[in-house]
Amino acid sequence: MSERRFSGQVTLDGPSGTGKSSVARAVATRLGAAYLDTGAMYRAATVAVLDAGVDLTDAEAVTRAVSEAAIEVGTAADAEVVTVDGVDVAERIRGAEVTRTVSPVSAVPAVRRLLVDRQRSLVAAADAVVVEGRDIGTVVLPDATLKVYLTAAPEARAQRRAGQLGVTDAHKIAEIAADLRRRDSYDSSRADSPLRPAADAIVVDSTGLDQDAVVDRVLDLALTAVGEPA
Ligand code: C5P
Repeated sequence: MSERRFSGQVTLDGPSGTGKSSVARAVATRLGAAYLDTGAMYRAATVAVLDAGVDLTDAEAVTRAVSEAAIEVGTAADAEVVTVDGVDVAERIRGAEVTRTVSPVSAVPAVRRLLVDRQRSLVAAADAVVVEGRDIGTVVLPDATLKVYLTAAPEARAQRRAGQLGVTDAHKIAEIAADLRRRDSYDSSRADSPLRPAADAIVVDSTGLDQDAVVDRVLDLALTAVGEPA
């Protein structure tokens, strides 16, 4: 397959609800690349913190809970493997409790250092990899082959998230939109590694585009970045 000509790293950053995960997985599959969901790592760390029962405002206790847990996140694009101390938490990390708690946990600098080290080792083991998150182009992989920042209008993001959750009630969609805004504002305003595009990132706005169009655009950019226009 011609798209296997890619080697290097594609970073895909941006706020929630842009379709980032589906796009990242599809791009990785098409490129024959590994895939790393760093959001899943922060979510798994949050499971460890919740289970340790520590005070969320105690940064030291939060960091200790994360460092003492065995957190494993798989790098295959076609399977979601997420375990904490050997327990499968792939479903639990998408639940409301973890979603509510993940931003404060991921704002702790020492937690970020632990997970960023782990992310860099996983990336170093792959010849080609697509990595999605919030700070991948800015902090984790500043020399990545291609940096993409995926955005979309807030209403489009709330609708997409509602579709994924099977929610049609307008009141619930408004709640989802409020949760997205709350997480965006928390992630963008934290002191350590705030959510923002890298200076050399290419911004792709997915509002009004279907997933295939976004995937094609990112594939095109990836192949062009390695001098192999599609
Ligand atoms: O991408 P996802 O919604 O699963 O990420 C969950 C949360 O993890 C984000 O809201 C953010 O607080 C945190 N995160 C982060 N840095 C990353 C990836 C995720 O701080 N690279």
